[in-house]
This record gives sequence, structure tokens and C-alpha cells, in this order.
Amino acid sequence: MKPVTRTPGLLRTGISTIVWSFYNPVTIEFGRGLCTKTQDLLPSGRGLVVSGKGTSYQIAQNILKETNPERFVFFPKAEANPSVKTTEEGIALCRREKCGYVLGIGGGSPLDCAKTIAFLANKNESVIEVLYKKSLPASKGLPFIAVPTTAGTGSEVTQYSILTDTENKKKISIANVASYPDIALIDPALTDSMPPRITASTGLDVLAHGIESAWTKTTNPVSQVFAAEAVHLVLENLEEAVKNGSAESRDNMMRASMLAGLAISGAGTTINHSISYPLTLYRGLEHGFACAISLPAVMRYNLNASRDILLEIARSCGLRTAEELIERIESLLAVLDAPRKLSELDIKENDLDWLTEESFSKNVVKNPETLEKKDMRDILRDMI
Ligand code: NAP
Ligand code: FE
Repeated sequence: MKPVTRTPGLLRTGISTIVWSFYNPVTIEFGRGLCTKTQDLLPSGRGLVVSGKGTSYQIAQNILKETNPERFVFFPKAEANPSVKTTEEGIALCRREKCGYVLGIGGGSPLDCAKTIAFLANKNESVIEVLYKKSLPASKGLPFIAVPTTAGTGSEVTQYSILTDTENKKKISIANVASYPDIALIDPALTDSMPPRITASTGLDVLAHGIESAWTKTTNPVSQVFAAEAVHLVLENLEEAVKNGSAESRDNMMRASMLAGLAISGAGTTINHSISYPLTLYRGLEHGFACAISLPAVMRYNLNASRDILLEIARSCGLRTAEELIERIESLLAVLDAPRKLSELDIKENDLDWLTEESFSKNVVKNPETLEKKDMRDILRDMI
């Protein structure tokens, strides 16, 4: 039989680590309309319901309206890019009310806040101690059920909780082998109410998760397969989700978000996320837009070091070359009216010093191409 010849496989592309592992213990329940079954999945006893202040709080109330209100304590206080202070407040309430589990309902912000509340409510460490401490307690927190209402962060299947230390103006991640949600209850219908701008920004976060988890030096073949499928789904569905919000495109974006979440849970992110943090902290740019704005420039910088995996992703999206993938992403940013230049955020040449410092995080060592501070500055200058 003639041997099958194929293009370089995902496994043979750009991976510097020969030994790899993939662990994700989250039970995923997925389906349109599934949120009506939420109460069937809850442990007995009283739970803390963590949400945002607006739409996600309304969604939480709606989901739980048939259930005995004495079973819940609501904490509808998670702000966008949730703060350490709010999270501490949630932990204190959880302990005071003797809640036995945490139900997080919302976008990545409420879910990340809820995740750390569940993780630390049964421990003595404060959030700030855990944020800055190198070794974290690896014991399980309270049971945590995550119900996403945006299709973006994939927080419902990740161990990451990104909190903002407002005093030091830093976004920092808590990640622990014991901090994954127990159950991700994913109902794409909950995203139907997202307006175009939130749909666009959160959807672009999925794209960044897909590209970054596929090319990072800490990638693995499982993450790469999830990542490629997630990028494909975004390129096929995000424009439709933003413009018309059809149920099919929402469902596909939710699937993409979950797959990209699985991908980053095993591989992490790279410098697009590092660059995003100062853009959010100092310019208030939404997380997804803040990650995606640097995708074309960083993809070009990384092209040689990650050409094979980008080519694989391009092909899985029906494109012929890695360059075509970059162009396709640029067109998507344009069509979604996403910010594409730092000058749109009032960032000029004389901002490059502080922006380079703030963007140059520990993530740079995972970038597929070697990256010194000077290179980061050049990338950022090209983005002005
Ligand atoms: P978000 O900050 O959770 O929500 C953004 C806005 O969307 C809020 O105003 C929110 O309202 C609203 N919203 C949420 N669901 C809605 C719906 N169904 N309909 C209408 N409006 C809705 O946004 P996000 O992009 O999902 O999360 C961003 C955060 O996640 C950042 O802090 C980022 O660093 C983090 N993140 C975490 C991970 C991870 O793995 N854990 C990965 C990437 C990013 P409410 O105020 O009512 O909630
Ligand atoms: Fe993200």
C-alpha cells in the first residue's frame, strides 16, 4: 500500500518540550437551554452565587427563580477585571454565611472572582498572599460550578483566575492544580443577550487563546488540536455572531471558547496576553480587544519560529499559508471594528518606555521566537 504523505503534523511543529502532560478535571455539560437544569447539578446546602452587577446578575436570578431562595446567598459584585478587594469580600461573605459551594454565573470576570472565592474560602491564606506567593496550597477548595454568559475566556474550564491588584496596578493570575471548576454548565443561549461590542471583544479573546496556546513553548498536541478547531470556529462564526447573533453562530462561538479554554488550561498564553494587561489597566480596553490588537504584529514576529503550526491552523481553516491566516485575522479585526492601532488608544512614541516595561512579563520566555525588551519595544512601535 502506498504510504500516506501528509503535511507536518501538529505534533512536529514548534514544540520545544519533548515531555508533556495534559490535565483537565472539569466535567463539561453543554447544550442550548441547559441552564434550566442548573439546580439539578448543585450540591445540597447553601451556595454562594457570584455574578457581575448587571446582565449576569439578571441571568443568575432568572436561572434560580424556581429554586428555594433560602438555598442561596447572592454576591452580585464582580466588576470587569475583578479586584483582589472584591474577591476578599466574597470570601468573607462565603465564610460568614457558611456556604458549602460556589456557583459562578457571568463572563470571565465573575467566573474568575468566583473561582478564587471557592478555592480560598476553606483556607487561611489571603488572596494577596496567594497572588504573590510562589508555592500555593494545592488542596481543593469548595465545590465550584461555573456558568459562562460570554463566549470568550473559557474560564469555566480553566484553573486560572485573573485578578487585579488595584493598589499596584497589576493583573495577576492565580493558577493551581486544585483550582479548576468541578462542573462547567455551558448554555450558549445565555450569550444571546450580548451586544455586538461584547460579542466581538470576547470572541477575539478566543482567537488569541487559540493562537497563543498553539505556538507557546509549553504547548502540547492536545492543546494544539483544541486550538486549531477553536480558531477555525472563530473565523467561521464570529462575524455572524456580532452582526446577526444567530443561534448557530452563538453555539459555535461558545464551543470555540470552551475548546480554547481547554487549550490554554494545558498550554497557557504568551505575549499577546502580556501586552493586553497594560492596555486594559491604563487605557480601559476590554480584555479580548486588548489581546487581539497585537495578534498581527506578534504573528509576523513569530512567523519563522511557528510557521509550521500556523500553517496547520491555516489549513484547518481552509487557507493555504500562514501569511493568509495573518491576513484573514487582520480582515476580521477590521470587519469587527476592533481597535487595530495603539494610536487609537492615545498611545504615542513617548509611551513606549512604560508600555514595554509593563508588557514584558514572565510570559516572554514562552514565546516561540526569542524576545528581548528591545524586540518587545519594536513590536509595540510597529503597532502605533
Ligand atoms: P466580563 O468582564 O466578564 O464582562 C464584560 C461585560 O459583559 C460586563 O459588563 C458584563 O455584565 C457583560 N455581560 C456578561 N455576559 C453578558 C450577556 N450574556 N449579555 C450581555 N452582557 C453580558 O468579560 P469577559 O471578557 O468574559 O471576561 C474578562 C475577564 O476574564 C478579564 O479579567 C480577563 O483577564 C479574564 N480572563 C480569564 C481567563 C481564564 O482562563 N480564567 C482567560 C482569559 C481572560 P455584568 O457586569 O453583568 O457581568
Ligand atoms: Fe484571555
